[in-house]
Amino acid sequence: MTLMPLDITAPGVPGVLELGREKLTAAIAGHDPHPSMRARQIERWVIHGRATDLNAMSDLPARLRNSLAGIVTPLTASVAKRSVATDGTHKLLVKLADGQLIETVLMFEEDRRTVCVSTQVGCGMGCAFCASGLIGVARNLTSHEILEQLLLARNELLEDEKLTHVVVMGMGEPLANLSNLLSALAIATSPQGLGLSARHITISTVGLPSRMLELADSGRKYHLAVSLHAPDDALRTQLIPTNEKTGINAILDAAMEFFRKTGRQVTFEYILLGGVNDRAVDAERLARLLEGRKAHVNLIPFNPVDGLPWKRPDRDAVVVFRQALEARHVTASVRKRKGADIDAACGQLRRQAIQDAAIADKI
Ligand code: SAH
Repeated sequence: MTLMPLDITAPGVPGVLELGREKLTAAIAGHDPHPSMRARQIERWVIHGRATDLNAMSDLPARLRNSLAGIVTPLTASVAKRSVATDGTHKLLVKLADGQLIETVLMFEEDRRTVCVSTQVGCGMGCAFCASGLIGVARNLTSHEILEQLLLARNELLEDEKLTHVVVMGMGEPLANLSNLLSALAIATSPQGLGLSARHITISTVGLPSRMLELADSGRKYHLAVSLHAPDDALRTQLIPTNEKTGINAILDAAMEFFRKTGRQVTFEYILLGGVNDRAVDAERLARLLEGRKAHVNLIPFNPVDGLPWKRPDRDAVVVFRQALEARHVTASVRKRKGADIDAACGQLRRQAIQDAAIADKI
């Protein structure tokens, strides 16, 4: 297992994954004659044994557990609130060591157990339809905070169940925090870590061309999804402010380069906003843009966000849109809506919690 880069953002007792093997061993050294064995044991308890408390580590001497209490904690993040939707989706409001709140979602689909993780507190991209973008970005998550979300979601599963897939589609722009994300995913995919397949991990980006190439050069076989959302620059810039500087062409070129370098086809995400970008003419233009580019399109009907003016597309519009793409040999799928009854659109739970806290402050 690789060491986590030391990237502490908050005061308090450091976490096992935050310290990494070497520092954990050093921290144990004054308290036990077998520090490296103990460090391995403790890591196993956190990663495989689902321990969130030192006292759960039953094969550690009680004396050692007591002396480590103020020195190291299994996880720095905790579940502040859990909502379970009627379709089984678990939405976790996760509290970080510095009190910041992020969201992590666990979804169930046949044999798949998929966790959706955040990479930043808030998001700096400011997309017009997104709840996370409304509040701006407070900071990047550290690699251990990204990894701890996987563990907290895994701890929700029954004893004999495992996580199978990860989508990096929670709060934040993953490629704006690429090195911490890559460190976390290295442990998620290592056999001594969570043993996840790189091919079952999807990273979604607003489209940062140089970072897309950096990801391709990392040599990892992660799946890349790019939020395209519009067939031309004028409309895309209205929906995604960062497009003004980037432009669709640079994103498509980077996506093709990613495919060339990794052999992995890029998925283009396309949010459908009723009456805005879901018309037959939009589908036709999107099809022409992507035709012959070896692209797959994932259509995402808009998840309503309180206070935003956008509407969900009509059911018929979704069908017609998809058919128009496929008629031009651009394969397309429609994302299923998960956790609809618990505000599972990214950023909404945190926004609600912040609003509730603001109201509580005023009372
Ligand atoms: N910053 C990354 C990850 C964002 S979340 C990115 O831009 O891709 C993952 C996907 O959900 C993105 O395609 C995002 O545009 C989309 N999304 C955000 N808010 C949404 C909403 N209210 N309804 C549907 N999709 C939304």
